[in-house]
Amino acid sequence: MKELWHKIKRKWMKLRLQPIRVFCLHHVTEQFDAESMSACDWMQIDEFKRLILSMQHDGITFISLSEAYAKISHDKCRTHKYAVLTFDDGYASLKGILPWLQENRIPVTLFINGKYLDGHSYRKNPKEQYLTKEELFAITSPLVEIGLHGWEHTDASQMTQAEFEKSINRSVDLLNAHPRYIPFHAYTWGRHTTLTDRDLQDKQIIPVLVGGKKNYCNTKYIEREIL
Ligand SMILES: [Zn+2]
Repeated sequence: MKELWHKIKRKWMKLRLQPIRVFCLHHVTEQFDAESMSACDWMQIDEFKRLILSMQHDGITFISLSEAYAKISHDKCRTHKYAVLTFDDGYASLKGILPWLQENRIPVTLFINGKYLDGHSYRKNPKEQYLTKEELFAITSPLVEIGLHGWEHTDASQMTQAEFEKSINRSVDLLNAHPRYIPFHAYTWGRHTTLTDRDLQDKQIIPVLVGGKKNYCNTKYIEREIL
């Protein structure tokens, strides 16, 4: 009965709320590099800039993930359009696009794998380049937020509970020293289980998915779309 009431309440709320779109990106560069990037994870830099500027022209305001979550939690009515930009994996190619985002006062969240910050480790092949720990910790702009993406880029749904917990704990130990750390975890490929969700919930970390949905008033997850 309680669940049904929540469903009705959520449906009614949706009618009053403009959805907040959270976008997931990886590489935004001048040219595609087949040796270090996947085509589905890449966007050409001019195309990206045009897209962002056209969204702003259409009345969309880019806000930080924290601000979006506060709105999702508290707004009773939302008529303005908001969107959030997030980048996964912490690739070194971010250094090419972050200055433009800063110049245009566009907030961004980076979801980081702790292990690859050492300058040697990589996810798929040695050509992949990641931000180093020094580079990441040198980013202190209030326009940037740093969230979790697991210690390594591992499918959470295939991990034991102990493995998942260890991965999160190691990541938190490293990243919560960052002045711009936020307690949000982007599941790799958006894969998760009720047990991994519970573990995050116990640690008061908000799970972030990538299932193509928009956000209205559900505070259990942040939903994302691939841009
Ligand atoms: Zn990823």
